[in-house]
This record gives sequence, C-alpha cells and structure tokens, in this order.
Amino acid sequence: MLKNKVVLITGAGSGIGRAVALVCAREGASLLLSDIDEAGTEATAALVREVGNEALVVLADVGVATDCQMLVERCCSHFGRLDVACNNAGISGPSLNTADYPVDDWNHVIQVNLSGVFYGMKYQIEAMLRTGGGAIVNVASILGAVGFATAPAYAAAKHGVVGLTHTAALEYSAQGVRVNAVGPGFIRTPMIEALDNDEATHAMLVAAHPMGRLGEAEEVAELVVWLASARASFVTGAYYPVDGGYLAR
Ligand code: NAP
Repeated sequence: MLKNKVVLITGAGSGIGRAVALVCAREGASLLLSDIDEAGTEATAALVREVGNEALVVLADVGVATDCQMLVERCCSHFGRLDVACNNAGISGPSLNTADYPVDDWNHVIQVNLSGVFYGMKYQIEAMLRTGGGAIVNVASILGAVGFATAPAYAAAKHGVVGLTHTAALEYSAQGVRVNAVGPGFIRTPMIEALDNDEATHAMLVAAHPMGRLGEAEEVAELVVWLASARASFVTGAYYPVDGGYLAR
C-alpha cells in the first residue's frame, strides 16, 4: 500500500508510533522515525530494518517549531521528498480536575499534543505541495470527540487536533494533500500502563469499550496506514474512531 513512499512518524519510539512504523515497513515504505526517546526509536528502527526497509532516526521535540521544521528538512534532504506524515507524538499529562490542573501542566500538554501537530503540519504541508501532494494522519483520540473527567488539557488538545485536521483538509485537499485524524480508544501502550495500574481501573476501562477489551497498537496502525495510502484516495477531513465501540454509546 505504501511501496516507494517516504513516511515521517513522530513518537515512533513506543506504542502506536512503533506499530505504525512496522505496518508502514510491511507495506513497503521508507521511514523517518522521530521521537525524544533515542533508545526506543533506535529499537523501532532496528525492527524496521529487519523487514528490509530503510529507517532514518532523527530526534526532535514536536513541541518546538524549529525541531518540526528540521525534521521535514532532514526528510527531504535524505529521501528527496515527504509523501506521508503521521503526527503521533503525545503525552497524557496529570489526572486532575480542571480547577486543580496546574497551569504549567496545561501549557505543556497543549504544547506537545496540539501545537506539536500544528508545527508538524505547517512544514509537512509545505514540503508535500512542492512534490504534488501527500497524506497526513494525525493521531487524536476518542477524547477528540468527548470529554473525560480529570483530562481537561488532553481532551482540549485532542479536540483541537480534530479541528486542525478539518481546517487543513479544507485548505489543501484540492492541491493533493489529504488530511485525516484517527481517534483511538484506550490502547495497551506504555502511556496507558501508568493509568491502567489497578484492577478496578482496568475493569472500568474495559467496560467502557463495548468490545470488552482495550485496543492494540497494531489495530490503530492498520487504520493509519490505510488512511495514508492511495486506497483512501477520496478520504479527507475525516475523523475515524478506532475504539472498540467506545463512542457508539
Ligand atoms: P507512548 O507509548 O507513550 O508513546 C509516545 C511516544 O512519544 C513516546 O516515545 C514519547 O517519549 C514520545 N514523546 C513524548 N513527548 C514527545 C515530544 N515532545 N516530542 C516527540 N516525542 C515525544 O504513547 P502511545 O499510547 O503510543 O500514544 C501515541 C499517541 O496516541 C499519542 O498522541 C496519544 O495521545 C495517542 N492516543 C493514545 C491512546 C492510548 O490509549 N494509548 C489513546 C488515544 C490516543 P517518552 O516515552 O520519552 O515520553
């Protein structure tokens, strides 16, 4: 599905980002893998190379605009272009109600989870327009569509990612850049391990998903890669839940 395509993935050192990298590799892509976690990203790169694909590791903080610009420049200088970007890096922030939420934590979550996606798209779109188009898949969340008590910054940022996705799709789809977002439910990754750490919480999280289980990173990756591929050629400006039915209630 992605044969000879160049794909840039942020947050590629863990969880969903690593799974996206591996499905992209299986589908024939060359990869620029980025994260702030060097060991995790090198581990992902080693797995990609085992499949026989090229993986370039470039460390970057998505919350810094110049890092996001540098990522796209490195991608274009190394591979000659950028076809697909998956803006996936994200953090959960503390679990606290709105009135108790520290301002510094609010700013940090918005910086990484929302501004990071804006910075990414700003430079990715510019590069894609130079080569006639491309596809962007932003990793939002079910909390891009509904609230969740004790996650004010995270939910606000993810709603913002969905709004940015709609807006950029309106602006650039006629020029060949498709922009979509996915909304994972609770997925078994290191991010969730910190929250899903006792039996009562686990039972509550499982019960929130009509399928009666949490999701796997690979299940999100399959949707991301389909949206990024030419098989989704008429899909843009869309927000696709991948949530075991969480949002259907
Ligand atoms: P994860 O396992 O924690 O992976 C996220 C990766 O992003 C980590 O390697 C992390 O590095 C990196 N990262 C953190 N801050 C960064 C920054 N400023 N710049 C670049 N990289 C950064 O989490 P995940 O579950 O795979 O989450 C991936 C995305 O899916 C996130 O956007 C998340 O909000 C979204 N999502 C996850 C779930 C879920 O249930 N897991 C549900 C809905 C949406 P460190 O480990 O060093 O922090």
